[in-house]
Amino acid sequence: MHHARLRVLIGVVLASGTSAIGAAEEYQPGKVYFGRNRYIEYLAGDLPFILSAPHGGRERPAELPDRERGTFAFDTNTQELARAVADELHTRTGHWPHVIICRVHRRKLDCNREIGEGAAGNPFAEEAWREFQGFIDSAHAGVVRQQGRGLYIDLHGHGHAEQRLELGYLHSADQLGLSDAELNKPPYPADSSLQAIAARNVVPYAELLRGEKSIGALMEKHGFACAPSPSNPHPKAPFFRGGYNAARHGRDAAPLAGLQIETNSRGVRDNAESRKKFAAALADTLATFFAAHIGIPLAAGAAVEAATAGTGAVALPPARGNNSPAPLSRPRRRANRKLLRPTS
Ligand SMILES: [Zn+2]
Repeated sequence: MHHARLRVLIGVVLASGTSAIGAAEEYQPGKVYFGRNRYIEYLAGDLPFILSAPHGGRERPAELPDRERGTFAFDTNTQELARAVADELHTRTGHWPHVIICRVHRRKLDCNREIGEGAAGNPFAEEAWREFQGFIDSAHAGVVRQQGRGLYIDLHGHGHAEQRLELGYLHSADQLGLSDAELNKPPYPADSSLQAIAARNVVPYAELLRGEKSIGALMEKHGFACAPSPSNPHPKAPFFRGGYNAARHGRDAAPLAGLQIETNSRGVRDNAESRKKFAAALADTLATFFAAHIGIPLAAGAAVEAATAGTGAVALPPARGNNSPAPLSRPRRRANRKLLRPTS
């Protein structure tokens, strides 16, 4: 573990061409860092939003053997979709999300499985797997330190016949068949990838999944069919519920929450125009979802800077536990409001 971490840091210094990276300030927002052999790519961010694309890798390095067990489907254009989302958020806010991409084909490495299945025992694949997870952990730590709360999305592409975004909160289609009243009861909120938000108990849990300000509702307003959503509260199988990353970096990542988005291809990721439309819709959706459910603005990273500019003071909220999120000072709230409004 220690050796792997050390090698990442060495790789970072070499790739960035600077020697000014200290242990406390490893990553500069907007800069791209790579793990060993550029299998894993990390765009460092300063927004409270983390996006990963584990299955959009195209490279097939000879040193990594083909995996023999598991699923090998390539999620076409999902790394490009993640890049489009990053560009859109940067255009709107002047700041960057954290984006983690596996550039290696899933036949060689699956960064959305536990390491045994994902790396199939190969030491180079294991190292890349740890880099992928380590970059997300590092982004998570940065968000906790800077904003106190935030959201993670694991971005995928499905090949199901029904053309819709499948929003994976770790609930199966059977569980989503339950009534709101049933879903609001244990164990569902605590089992959810949104458990950190559910624990704040601001709205009934089922509203987070399929209410008027759910991600499904907000994306459908932009013309992207979703499940679950107010118009499709009880989706039928086949439906992807969310995997290793949604559990590790969503459910188990309080004070952050997360989800998996499985995208259909047509009109979403099939070409640059589609990807830009999706990115714009997701940026609007995130702005509304952050304000409604996370309790900080999506552009909170920008606000920290604006609120402390010229004062020499650093007003970062401390990391808190699940149920006591960091309170926001009034100057930060005011600064935040100007920076990013939903435009829908
Ligand atoms: Zn996938």
